[in-house]
Amino acid sequence: MTWTGDPIWLADVLRAEGLTVIEHAGWLGRGHGDFRDLRGVMCHHTAGGGPNDWRIVQNGRPGLPGPLAQLVLERDGTYRVIAAGVAWHAGAGSHPGWPTDNANWHVIGIEGVNDGVGQAWPAVQMDAYRRGCAAILRRIGRPASDCVGHKEWSSEGKIDPNFGMASFRAEVARLIATGPPAPMENEIDAEAAVARAWIGTRTTPGELVTADGIGRYARFANGSVYWHPYVRNGDATAVPAHLMETYARYGHESGFLGYPTLRHTVVPGVGDIQAFEGGTLYRRYGQDGFPVRGVIGKRWAAEGYETGPLGWPISDEYDNGTGGLAQDFQNGRLQWDPSGVVKEINRRSDDR
Ligand SMILES: [Zn+2]
Repeated sequence: MTWTGDPIWLADVLRAEGLTVIEHAGWLGRGHGDFRDLRGVMCHHTAGGGPNDWRIVQNGRPGLPGPLAQLVLERDGTYRVIAAGVAWHAGAGSHPGWPTDNANWHVIGIEGVNDGVGQAWPAVQMDAYRRGCAAILRRIGRPASDCVGHKEWSSEGKIDPNFGMASFRAEVARLIATGPPAPMENEIDAEAAVARAWIGTRTTPGELVTADGIGRYARFANGSVYWHPYVRNGDATAVPAHLMETYARYGHESGFLGYPTLRHTVVPGVGDIQAFEGGTLYRRYGQDGFPVRGVIGKRWAAEGYETGPLGWPISDEYDNGTGGLAQDFQNGRLQWDPSGVVKEINRRSDDR
C-alpha cells in the first residue's frame, strides 16, 4: 500500500455522480491528520434525525472533537462535505483487508441523517447513499465489499446504520460497474491546442489508457497531457517535460501524486510549479524537482510557499529517525512528528 493522501476530490467525485453537494468552508483543511491509503467507505446514521445533525459531525461533542465523519448525507439526498482529513468515526472493530481497530486513517465515513429508532429513510436519501458510496469506491479502486456498515465493523456494539447492508452493497456493486462518464476524445486535443506554443508535436498515437483503466494521456515532444473524468471537472491538463521528469520519478498518475489538478506555473528564470492531487511539484531549472505535500506542505504553504522564508524544496520528505518526517528547503527544514507538530529548525542564511 502506498500513501494516497487526503480525498481532496470528494466534492468533485460526488458531483460527477450527479449528486448535490455542499462544500463546508475549510473542509480541505479539516481533520485529525492526513489519510494513509484509502481502503473503503463506512456507513453510519447520525442517531439525531434533524437538519442540525451536521453540526455535531463537524464540531464534535464533549470528549470527542470533530470532525466525526468526512460526509453527512441529508434526508433530501444532499451531501455535506465536512472534512478531507481523518475523522473519528470508526472506533474499534475489524474487516478483512482493513487494519484492526484502526480504520479512521483508511476509511471515509458517511453519516446519514436518521434517528435510528424508526424514522423512515427517504428513497432520495438512500439513492444518494448508494451512489455516493459507489462513486468513492470507484475513485479509489476498491470493490463493493469495502462498503461496510459501522455495525458490521464494530466490536463495541454499534448498531448503525439500521438498514440491511447486503442488499445495499449489491446495489453499490451494480453502480460501481456502471462506470464513470465516457471519456470525451477531444479533451486531450483541446488542452494540447491551448499548449501549442510550447508542447510540440504528438509522439504517441491517439489517447493511451492510464494504469487505472479510466484516465487517458498522450505524449508530446515537450510534455504530456493527462485526462481523468473526475479531475479538473473532466478537463485535460498539460505537464511540461521539465516537470514530467520529476513526475516520472514518483510513478506518474499511479503514484501518490495522482493526476495534475492545475496547469503549471512558470517562475521566469527560476523554475516550474504544478499541483497534482497528492501534492505539488517544484522544480528549479538545472536542479532536481521535489513534491511538497501533507502536513509539512500545509505548514510550508502557511509560510508563503516558495516565496516565503524557507524558499524552494531541496529534498523529498524523509524519515527523521524519530518516527516522523522531515523535508529540507533552501533556507531551512520542516519536521513533522506524530504529535502533529511541525517545527522549523536550522534556518540557514546560505542559499543552496
Ligand atoms: Zn456509526
